[in-house]
Amino acid sequence: MGIESIISKECKWCNAKNTINFCSDECREKFYSFAAFARKYIKLFIILIIVCPFAFIPISAFIDHDSLFFFGAMFLFLGVTITALSFCTTQTVELLGLRRSIIAGRICGIVMIVISLPFIL
Ligand SMILES: [Zn+2]
Repeated sequence: MGIESIISKECKWCNAKNTINFCSDECREKFYSFAAFARKYIKLFIILIIVCPFAFIPISAFIDHDSLFFFGAMFLFLGVTITALSFCTTQTVELLGLRRSIIAGRICGIVMIVISLPFIL
């Protein structure tokens, strides 16, 4: 993530105005701990997001279920991944601030999980 190097006139974590980069030590700490978490798991996240749709297609050929079930299972898997690893694009983080981008990512993930459930259950 390149967002650490961007100088911001708002708090990079909570978007408080009239501050340079961070409004408090707490926000600075939360920002950098999430940045470290993101650095550690970003590759896994990308692999899961890309591999998952491709993995479910061949699996579905071997298991006797209708295709809607696999659509649901794929959606569930993506939803869980996005909820656990809520990494948004740099543009989204710049726009919303990191804290709100994480919340937005979690909401998307949870919505995907909810949508997937009727197909699986
Ligand atoms: Zn702040």
